Amino acid sequence: MFEQSTRVFKTCLLWLVLSCFIIIGVPGGAKAETEQTDGLPPVSIGIVAENKPYSFIEGRSVNGFSIDLLREIASKSGLEFDFRIGSWPEIYSAFQRGELDAIDGISYESQRARSILFTAPYHVRETVLMHDVDRPVGKIDTLSDLKNLRVGVVEDIYYRNLLTENGITPQTYSSLADLVRALAFDWVDIIIGPRLTLEFSANEAGFRFLEVTGKAPLGRLALEDLRLGVSRSNPDLYERLKAGLEAIPEQRKAELLRRWQEFGGASLAQPPDFRLTSKQRGYLNDLGPVRVGLMRDYAPFSFKDGGKLQGLTVDVLDRLADLTGLQVIPVAGQWSELFAMLKSGQIDVLANMSKNQAREVFTRFTEPYHSIPNVAFTLDETLEFNGLESLRGYTIALGSDIYYEDQVVRILGNDARVFSTQEAMFQALSRGDVDAVLAALPNGNFWIRELQIPGVHIAGELKLNGQSGEDLRFGVTRPEAPLADILNQALSAISATEMRTIENRWLGASFNRNLRQTGEIELSLGEKEWLEQRHSALTYCIDNDWLPLEGLDSSGHHVGLSAEVLRLFTERSGIQFNRVPTRSWPEALEAAQSRTCDLLSLAMKTPERSRYLDFTEPYVQVPNIVLGRIEAPFIESVAELREKPVGVVQGYAFLELLRNRYPALQLHEVSDEKEGLRLLQEGKLAGYVTTLATASYHMQDMGLADLKVIGRIPADWSLSVAVRNDQPVLLGILQKLVDSITPSERSELEGYWRNIHIEQSVDYSIIWQILAVVALIAALLIYWNRKLGVLNRELAEANETLARLSVTDDLTQLGNRSYFDQEFRKGFQWCQRHETGYAIAMVDADLFKQINDTYGHEAGDRCLIKLAEIMRGHFRRETDRLSRFGGEEFVICTSYQDRNDVINRLDSFRRALEQTPIPFNDHEIHLTVSIGLATDIPSPDDTPAEFLRLADQALYAAKENGRNRLEVRAVKE
Ligand code: GH3
Ligand code: MG
Ligand code: MG
Repeated sequence: MFEQSTRVFKTCLLWLVLSCFIIIGVPGGAKAETEQTDGLPPVSIGIVAENKPYSFIEGRSVNGFSIDLLREIASKSGLEFDFRIGSWPEIYSAFQRGELDAIDGISYESQRARSILFTAPYHVRETVLMHDVDRPVGKIDTLSDLKNLRVGVVEDIYYRNLLTENGITPQTYSSLADLVRALAFDWVDIIIGPRLTLEFSANEAGFRFLEVTGKAPLGRLALEDLRLGVSRSNPDLYERLKAGLEAIPEQRKAELLRRWQEFGGASLAQPPDFRLTSKQRGYLNDLGPVRVGLMRDYAPFSFKDGGKLQGLTVDVLDRLADLTGLQVIPVAGQWSELFAMLKSGQIDVLANMSKNQAREVFTRFTEPYHSIPNVAFTLDETLEFNGLESLRGYTIALGSDIYYEDQVVRILGNDARVFSTQEAMFQALSRGDVDAVLAALPNGNFWIRELQIPGVHIAGELKLNGQSGEDLRFGVTRPEAPLADILNQALSAISATEMRTIENRWLGASFNRNLRQTGEIELSLGEKEWLEQRHSALTYCIDNDWLPLEGLDSSGHHVGLSAEVLRLFTERSGIQFNRVPTRSWPEALEAAQSRTCDLLSLAMKTPERSRYLDFTEPYVQVPNIVLGRIEAPFIESVAELREKPVGVVQGYAFLELLRNRYPALQLHEVSDEKEGLRLLQEGKLAGYVTTLATASYHMQDMGLADLKVIGRIPADWSLSVAVRNDQPVLLGILQKLVDSITPSERSELEGYWRNIHIEQSVDYSIIWQILAVVALIAALLIYWNRKLGVLNRELAEANETLARLSVTDDLTQLGNRSYFDQEFRKGFQWCQRHETGYAIAMVDADLFKQINDTYGHEAGDRCLIKLAEIMRGHFRRETDRLSRFGGEEFVICTSYQDRNDVINRLDSFRRALEQTPIPFNDHEIHLTVSIGLATDIPSPDDTPAEFLRLADQALYAAKENGRNRLEVRAVKE
C-alpha cells in the first residue's frame, strides 16, 4: 500500500532521483539524546522523504511524527540511528539488498513476513473524509452516500478502483496539499485521505474550517499499519527496537501525534518564560509607545467593526504587547496609505506585511505569524487561473501596493485594475466591472459574504516563483531594527496552544458563522428528536460565586450574564434549562463529570476538562488580571511574583494554565473569590489572579478600596457552554444556540460586566476610593484592550486619544493614578540613568472639607478644576508630569538642572492660586494649597517610594507650619 500512496510525492522527489542512487544520510540527531550507545555502530534506517508530517527534510535535518518516535526509541533503547532518506522504492530495495539495518513505516504483509521481522504498529494510518464545516455533507456511511458529491482524492491512490466501481468519479490532485486546497476553494465537496496528513495540511494552510467528519467507508482498506521492519537475520536489533518502542507510554505517543496533527509539529510544551534582556528593556523604555499600522479592511486579520479594530493580527499584536510590555498605538488605515507612512517613518511598524526584496531596503521583517493563499475570485465559470499568463485578456482587480502588484501589472498591463480598498474590488466584481479579483482567500470570502455576491467561485491560486501562500509578518522601519528582534522573540514565545486559540477564533468555522447570526436557530431532525426524548429539558450547573458572570441571588435563583444567555436560549429554542444545585464550583465540575448535569453554562476549555466535556465556541471573553494591594508596584508579568504567594480560586481553569506556564509561582488555592480578596487585603497574598468582571463586582460588594489591578495575564477567559461529551448531539444544539447570539445581543451581554455601577453609600471617602479603583480598572481595561476609541488618520490625534482615554482623570483632565504610577517610575528611572535631579511635589488643598461643607460638593469640584488649570499653566515643560493622586491631592513630577528653578515655579503656582478667587454662584471662593517637595539626583540604590515618602513628610510639615506654603526636602540631607 505504501508504494502507491507515496507516489504522491514524486514531484518533490525530483532532486532525490536526480542524485541517482540516492539514499542520503542525514545526521540522526539521536546522538545527543542517547547518553551511551554501548559502543554499537549506528543503526541505518530507511526513511521516506517528503512524507509530511510523518517524515520529511527540513533544512539539514529530518523531522516528523515518525522521526519523533524514532528519537524516543533511540533514547529508550540506547541505539543510535543513522537516518537514510529516499523514496519508498529506493529505501525498500536498499533494505532488501541488506544495505540498511531497518526500515520505517512498513505495513505488515504475510509475504514480507518471510524475510522481515515487524514490530507492533506504532501508528495506524486511518483514511478519513474531510469536509468544509460551512458546507457540511451530512452523514456518510457507505460509498453510495458519496455518489452525488464532488469527491477529491490524490492521483494514483490505491482505492481509486474501488471508488469507480461504486460509480464515483473523483477529481484528482497531484498532492495532498493541493487536495486540501481544492476543498477549501469549494472545488470539491469532500476529500478522502490519511487523517494525520489532511489535518496537518489543513492546519498548515490556516484552513480552520476544514474538518474530518469520519472514517472513509473503504472497509479494511481504510486502515494502514505503520511499523518498523528488521531483517530476520538480525533478531538482536529487532528485540532492541521492539523493547524501545514498547517503552514509550501510549500517552506519550498520543501527545506526539497531536503535536503534528493539530500544531504542525510545534512543541506542545509551554515556551520558556519570556524575558527581555535589560538592554532590550532599556531600549523599549526609551522607544516609548510604538505606532503600528493595521489595515482597516483586511478581515479577518485586521478590520474595523463598529469602531473597534479587531482580527487575528490584532490578537497576535496584543499578545506581543503583553509579553514585551510594548505600548502600541494602533493606526488604522488603508494599505497604500499605511505603506507610505511606513516608508516615511510616520509609523514604526506595519502589520500583515509580506516580505520581498524591494521592501527589505527600508523594512526589517519578523518571522511570519501566518500564511494565507491568494486566489482569483470570479463569476465567470470558464475562467481558469493557472499562472498570471492565463489571465491575459481579462480585467483583473488587485489591491494597490500589494506585494505582487508589479508582476501582475507587467503581465496584464492596462487590464490590471488597482484598487485602494478590498471592498471596492468586490463591488467591482459584483457589478461586472472586472472579470476577477485577486485577493487573499479569507479576505475575499469575508467580502463576498458581506456584500452577498452570489455565484462567486475560485478560479485558481496565485503562485509567484512557484511559491504559493502569502507570508504575514510585521515590518519594522529600519531605524528600529532591534524592535524586530524583540517582536520575533516574543512571537516564538506565543505557545502553539495560544496561537491555535487565536487562529480558531478568526479562521475557524465559527467566525464565518458568526457573520450570519440571525437571532434564529434551525435544529436538524435528529436534534429535534433527541430533544423530544428529553422532553426539551436539560440540566445544568453554575458557579455560585462568579457574579456578575453568574451566581445566585438572595433567594437562590441563578442570576448574572449566563442566566441571561440561558433565558435567551429558552426563548429561541423552547428548551427548559433546569439547574442542579451545587455548593461550589468543584462540585459543579464533579456533577458534570458524573453526568448529573448535562451542561455548564459558563466554562473555559482546558485539556483536563476536555476529557469529559465538549465546549462550544466561546461566547464571552473576559480579561484576566492580577490584583494586588494598593501600594504594590505594577508588574509586567506574573513571573515577577515568583516565590511570593499568588492566589487563584481552586478548580478554576487558569490554575491549570498558570501551573504549566509559571512553575516558579507559589500558587495558593483559595476556596472562593471573597476569600481570595480578603487574603489579599490582609497582605497574606502578594497577588490574586482573577477576572476583571468578578473582581470589580466583589470589590464593590465588600467595600474593598485598598486593592488595585497590578498587572495582567496575557490570556483571557474565553468562556463557552460546556456539554457532556457522551451525547454528541448536545454540542451541535448548544453551538447553534451560541451562534444565534446576534452582535447586538453580544454587546448587551458584555455590558453586563463592563458597566460597573456604584451603589450610593454613606462613607464619602470610600466612594471616592472605590471610584478611583474602578476608574483605574476601567482605564487599564481600556488601555489593555486597545479599545482606544476612534483611531484617527491623524497620528497626532491618535496619540492624544490614547493618552486621554487611558490615563486621564475625568474631573481635572490631569493624569490619573495609573498615569502617575507609570510616569513616576519612568521619570525616576530616567533620572537615575542620566544622573539628573528628580523632583516630586505633593500638593494638597487646604481645608477643603470646609469648602465642601460651606458651598457644597459641586463648588468643591469647581475649585479642583480651577486648581488643575492653574497648575497646568505653571508646568508646561516637556518633562513636567501632573497627576491627580486622589481626592484633593495632586502630584507634580519633573526633572531639573537647577533645584531653585523648581522651587520658584512651585511657589509661583501656589501664589497664583492664592490670588485667583474662584467664582461659584454668587460667591468667590479662596483656595490655597500646601506643597511638600522632595528632590535629589537618584542614585542607583534609591527607590521612587523614598522620594514619595519624603514629599509626603514635607507636605505634612507644610500643613503643620500653617498651610498655604511650600516645604522642601532633599533626600540625601
Ligand atoms: P487639610 O488638608 O488642609 O488638612 O484639610 P482638608 O479639609 O483638606 O482635609 P482632608 O484631606 O482630610 O479632606 C479632604 C476632603 O476633600 C475630603 C473630601 O470631602 C474632599 N474631597 C475629596 N475629593 C473630592 C472631590 O473630588 N470633589 C469634592 N468636591 N471634594 C472632594
Ligand atoms: Mg487630603
Ligand atoms: Mg486637604
